[in-house]
Amino acid sequence: MRIVMIGSGYVGLVSGACFADFGHQVVCVDKDEAKIDRLMQGGIPIYEPGLEDLVARNVATGRLDFTVDLTGPVARADVVFIAVGTPARRGDGHADLSYVYAAAREIAGALNGFTVIVTKSTVPVGTGDEVERIIREVNPDAEFAVASNPEFLREGAAIEDFKRPDRIVIGLEDERARPVMEEVYRPLYLNQAPIQFTGRRTSELIKYAANAFLAMKITYINEVAELCEQVGADVQQVARGIGLDNRIGGKFLHAGPGYGGSCFPKDTLALVKTAEDAGTPIRLIETTVAVNEARKRAMARKVIAACGGSVRGKTIGILGLTFKPNTDDMRDAPSLSIIQALQDSGAVIRAFDPEGMSAARTMLRDVEFVSSPYATAEDAAAVVIVTEWDAFRALDLERLKAEMAGNALVDLRNIYRPDVAERAGFSYVSIGRPGPMTDEPLSIAAE
Ligand code: NAD
Repeated sequence: MRIVMIGSGYVGLVSGACFADFGHQVVCVDKDEAKIDRLMQGGIPIYEPGLEDLVARNVATGRLDFTVDLTGPVARADVVFIAVGTPARRGDGHADLSYVYAAAREIAGALNGFTVIVTKSTVPVGTGDEVERIIREVNPDAEFAVASNPEFLREGAAIEDFKRPDRIVIGLEDERARPVMEEVYRPLYLNQAPIQFTGRRTSELIKYAANAFLAMKITYINEVAELCEQVGADVQQVARGIGLDNRIGGKFLHAGPGYGGSCFPKDTLALVKTAEDAGTPIRLIETTVAVNEARKRAMARKVIAACGGSVRGKTIGILGLTFKPNTDDMRDAPSLSIIQALQDSGAVIRAFDPEGMSAARTMLRDVEFVSSPYATAEDAAAVVIVTEWDAFRALDLERLKAEMAGNALVDLRNIYRPDVAERAGFSYVSIGRPGPMTDEPLSIAAE
């Protein structure tokens, strides 16, 4: 199959490289020239484990190519995926579809022969209808079908998720697209990945319903964590106790500082808006959004309380800036709100992140970025673990403590045992757990 991927970001580049690895002929397009230049020189514009090797391997075989000009590749393509961004629209929270529609217009002008156009971007119900209308308007003679194929990969585990998905969802209104999509995913079909063919609108809604459910699950355990703190229960044990029930499942039950990232915040908002417009509000998700916003502010208050009620003029060390480990993605990371709230209360911020600092520099002001976890602790009143990078899981706590002026360790990811942290001299604060534990912490599935 000749595949074109419009948009070479976290989803487009991973999907394009994986399709090439399946044996398809893939061209990844992006309008960002710097990104394409970097890719053509063998560089990778994002941090995603394994991606550099995968891209290099497939470029070397001649199956993967990059360009800023979609015209020739689209004319030759069997399938064109749209994998551009769909951020929250400023002001109202609806998904901003301007990039999707612009891509549809550009594709329309270049079509030649029957082509399947597939929205891989997360798009609200009805977007496929509008993409179809735009293409027909721009190129009334074009032979095409528009399908929906939402992407479920997680940053940090994107290649594995793409190659071994829980399911592949494909929404069609035109049966001519079915054999083409079957061929695109044939290698996964052979691996027995479940493929769900459905209607296009249903497919579009599945993606939002899935993300909103996961965001709600995280928010639920975060509220249970609050309750645990009040009543002397341990949220990790509660999470394990409920997660072992197959009807609930152990994933996405890790209490923390609130969900963030490039998907959940914007997708929950967009679902709320779609439901409102349809006259069937989804109140559970409206509440999820509000509770999560409040949670991020509450995390800053937790740090301030750990510092004796004020952080004015005090240095706070931040460990981890990205919204989760193994990515450099800073979009809507909880660290941004937490740091802003601490700065508003007069704190001086020193931060370290293994991969997120170059993006963070463009999003945060007056933060001193340092080159090691220990350097964040210098003269600090508190060190706050915001992201659970592996690099933070086995710190020399005595050394960390020795660098500090104060003794507060605020662990928003519960990666340390309270008794271990306290033995190292810390006043240790974590999420939803009572004082020092005597029993082994139970491992629960990571998000
Ligand atoms: P991204 O911002 O990393 O990448 C989008 C890319 O599209 C950018 O490089 C941009 O320059 C390019 N682009 C925009 N308009 C273009 C055009 N007309 N022609 C060519 N290139 C164009 O975004 P992302 O994180 O890859 O997300 C893409 C979509 O996938 C979104 O709808 C998102 O919700 C969805 N999604 C993301 C993830 C994730 O983990 N990031 C997971 C599942 C689904």
